[in-house]
Formats: sequence, C-alpha cells, structure tokens
Amino acid sequence: MTRTTYFLGAGASKAFGYPITSEILPKIVQRGKKVLARGTSGPVSASKKELKELLEKLFPALWRQPERDMPLITDLLTLLNNAIVTDTPVFIDDSEMSSHQRLRLRLEQGIVDALRPPYRRNSPPKLLRKFVDSLYPSDPGRTNESTVVSTNYDLSIEGLLYEATGSGASGSVDSHEVAARIDHGFTYRIPFASHSPLATRPLDSKVGLYKLHGSLNLLRCAVCKCSFLNPLGDVSWRPFLYPRSKLNRCDYCGITPLKPVIVAPSFVRDVSELGLSEVWNAAYEALRAAHRWVFVGYSLPPEDYAIRSLLLRAYRFRTTKPEVKVIQRKNTEEDKEDKEKQHLMQRYRLLFENPKFHFDGFEAFIKSPPGSKPGN
Ligand SMILES: [Zn+2]
Repeated sequence: MTRTTYFLGAGASKAFGYPITSEILPKIVQRGKKVLARGTSGPVSASKKELKELLEKLFPALWRQPERDMPLITDLLTLLNNAIVTDTPVFIDDSEMSSHQRLRLRLEQGIVDALRPPYRRNSPPKLLRKFVDSLYPSDPGRTNESTVVSTNYDLSIEGLLYEATGSGASGSVDSHEVAARIDHGFTYRIPFASHSPLATRPLDSKVGLYKLHGSLNLLRCAVCKCSFLNPLGDVSWRPFLYPRSKLNRCDYCGITPLKPVIVAPSFVRDVSELGLSEVWNAAYEALRAAHRWVFVGYSLPPEDYAIRSLLLRAYRFRTTKPEVKVIQRKNTEEDKEDKEKQHLMQRYRLLFENPKFHFDGFEAFIKSPPGSKPGN
C-alpha cells in the first residue's frame, strides 16, 4: 500500500473556482460596494459600512483603486497584526487599538464571504468529485491510504468527502458517520445535537483531513475551549453577524459566543490560540508515515514559516525519504512566469531532494493518466 499525503495550497482550490490570495482583497471590496449600493439596513450592511470607513481612514485611495493595483490581503493583515502585537497604533486617533481589532475582524469576515462555494452544492465540479473519489476508497478493508493536509479554509474537499461516508439518502450527511470515517486530527464536539457529543479521532479512518489554518465549518469557545465541527456546512459567518445571539452559542457551556477558527494570511500569526496544535501534530505524523507527498497549488510562501518548519522536521527526521511531487499551475502572465517558476523550484529544492515538478495544473493531474488514481 502506497500512502500519499496531499498538501493543498490556495492554488488547489483555485482549480475549483475559489480565489487565490491576490484575488481576496479585490473580492472583499467588490462585495462591500455591492452590499452598500443596495442601501439596505441590517447587520450585513452595517459591517460593510464599517469596513469601508476603516479602510478609507487607513488607506484613503484603496476603496477606489482598480482591482489590479490593490495590495495583498496578507500585507494589510500583517500591518494590523503587527500594530496589535506591538501595541503601536497605525490609526493615529486610536491609541486603544479598537479600530485595529475591528478592521481585522471585518477583513476576516470578508475572507469568509469570499470563500463561499463558487458552484451549487448539488453540482460540484466533476474534477473535484473525481479527486475526492480517489481519496475515499470504496473497499471497506482499505483505510488510511490518503491524507490531505490543507492550508485552505474553504469546504471544497469536505463537502464531497462527507457525502462519501455514505450516510443516509443521497446528499445527506450523518455527523456520527463523518466522525467515524474522517480523521480531522483533533477531538471536537458535534454541534446542534443534544449534549453536543464528543467526536474523538477514529483509529481506522478512511481519510485524514488536517486543516492547518482552520476551516469554515469550525467554531470554538474561548472559555471552555470546545471546538464544534459542523459537517453540514459553513458556520463561520455566525460570529461575525450574530456575535451574541443564540445562533452563535456554545452548546456546551451554554452562554459563551463562539469564534471562527481561521488563521488569516499574515506574517504575524499564531495557531496555538485557536486550538489547532493537535491538527498540526496529526499533519506531522501523516507526513512522517506517507511514501509520497504531493503538493498542489502551494508556493511555499515566506509568511508560512511555521509550515516550512513542519515540513523540514517531517522530512529530515525519517530515514526513508518520501517521493515529493509539486503540482503547480502556469502563471498566465508570461513575463512573470519564468521568474516565479524559478523561485518556486528554488524554495522546494532548498527543503527536499529531487522534487518532481509538474506545471500543467491540478486539473491535468487529476485527469491523467485517464481512469486511474491521481498521481499514479
Ligand atoms: Zn463553551
């Protein structure tokens, strides 16, 4: 049995229509403008109004800039996080830092909005289905062959993976079946059920799915530290729109509002406070045990120093090295392509011996060779 760990970056979700990092801020501004143009009232409009006011206060030109000239969301969040961590305001009239916290919150809300599925739930892209089918073995005796380590928060993979657990009528998902067959790398509570039962990690899971930066179907209680994973879909919007309502209440301790679990892209970030360290340990073990590592749409960006450390440790501390494949899409801007390609190859070669590069994208990787499991 060949064990494969897929390591998915934003480029993997791009293949299914989700935005990559450089497209997120333009999408946030675009949606903000759209909501404000409606002129309605309510929590969504109020949040977009606050986003616009705070962004314009910090960068007066940004809201009106052409999309191609907008900075990366990573730059904005790094600026804010650094200001918060060092207690050095960048909003000159806010020595108490509340504008910084609120703008960060609104940008995180924008990220959550931008990662809504770009397709209808009942008609996911065929290639996505093909990839997920290859991850989930139909033979009951086959377990633990594939794991997915992902830096993405979107639910593209799990939407179909949860369905594949085969619970109930077509398309319906049973939380207990999901908990028994999919290893998420940590213990969580099942929400919206009486007493929120605890789902511990299954010993013989069909697939491991470890999301290093959190997930849109995950909420966490800051007081009792319980994590709630909802296999029925996205719940990350609740804390932004209804921070203190019953729609966003910890089922376990009963009173506390829940928080989303997303580690937004920034050079300054900390995964420990979101209870993700168990997931990182599970990802480390999966990488240690796999014969093959397949990186998809992941550019090893500088801000992911914790991930490079994880990969380096998992790679160096094993006697038999895994085969390393890197699947990347070509840059459509020709002048940038060669330079980016060279930099990407340098970053991978610094960490691994003889990685194999494929620059024809995830779609081609899933398709070929026809009729067989991706990567064979
Ligand atoms: Zn609680």
